[in-house]
Amino acid sequence: SAVSKKEEKGRNIQVVVRCRPFNATERKLSAFNVVDCEHARKEVTIRTGGVGDKATKKTYTFDMVFGPTAKQIDVYRSVVCPILDEVIMGYNCTIFAYGQTGTGKTFTMEGERSAGEQFTWEEDPLAGIIPRTLHQIFEKLSENGTEFSVKVSLLEIYNEELIDLLSPSPDVNEKLQMFDDPRNKRGVVIKGLEEITVHNKDEVYQILERGAAKRKTAATLMNAYSSRSHSVFSTTIHMKETTVDGEELVKIGKLNLVDLAGSENIGRSGAVDKRAREAGSINQSLLTLGRVIKALVERTPHVPYRESKLTRILQDSLGGRTKTSIIATISPASINMEETLSTLDYAHRAK
Ligand code: ADP
Ligand code: MG
Repeated sequence: SAVSKKEEKGRNIQVVVRCRPFNATERKLSAFNVVDCEHARKEVTIRTGGVGDKATKKTYTFDMVFGPTAKQIDVYRSVVCPILDEVIMGYNCTIFAYGQTGTGKTFTMEGERSAGEQFTWEEDPLAGIIPRTLHQIFEKLSENGTEFSVKVSLLEIYNEELIDLLSPSPDVNEKLQMFDDPRNKRGVVIKGLEEITVHNKDEVYQILERGAAKRKTAATLMNAYSSRSHSVFSTTIHMKETTVDGEELVKIGKLNLVDLAGSENIGRSGAVDKRAREAGSINQSLLTLGRVIKALVERTPHVPYRESKLTRILQDSLGGRTKTSIIATISPASINMEETLSTLDYAHRAK
């Protein structure tokens, strides 16, 4: 083809790094900084040993690099806005947060509320990708006069079982079943999955709160739930447009926002390491996701979508004419250096 492989894949899978600030624990343990983020050069450098002239370093280049001072709005503008434009054109897209537990996956995807009551949820500077995206969908589509509807679902995968966080039942032990969709070769049907129509942006927050309450219950019942589970927040937009000749067109776009299990749940280089196996924390979905992304990047004919729940669910939103962004989150501290290298290696393979 006229377009080189590298250029072509660069358009479909984007990998960015976000390093959070030092935290109190790291300071207390007298950890030191080993991460240097160069936003303009899109480089992140890890000091792996030594000091001064004798320091050994490893530099990685990504599509974007955000250092500890980057704000939620910066990540939203650079990473999410272009993806949302694709969704509004009628494509399926996915944004993943991947990284060691405690490095800011949930902070990036959901965000937090500032103390006090000075901000509404959507104006809060700490709001993450999910609230900002929902808000923007309503703003953008109301502005351009499209007739549209928005549906959301929130599904979690723990130990290869599916839990619906938005179902009316508070019981987290009710697991959902998944089947191949007879009408869509690339899709699955998740039987009974609650898909909630959101009528306006103010409803979004209530829905998210409901999901959060059920997630709390799951966390009390399942071992290491928050670090071992994957959270898939999906938004489907139906848009009706009338062409100049009065013809009606329906476009459907879908955005999956995925907060992955902690990357410490799989070993370095994507292999199941002994430690993880002994801890019983092999994470089939996380391992398979790595293989699926590798197969897509390398254009191997067989993509192992079917080998995990997560990749089956996302099959219609990965590969082909879809856009994927991976936000790899890391800690700046020396005590986390091994996990940081492991995260950057995994993320770099997706480039
Ligand atoms: P993860 O979901 O990866 O386990 P969290 O999102 O829960 O990690 O983040 C762990 C802690 O670090 C939280 O207290 C969060 O507020 C803080 N944090 C993470 N990223 C940032 C950031 N970029 N800026 C400020 N605080 C952050
Ligand atoms: Mg988290």
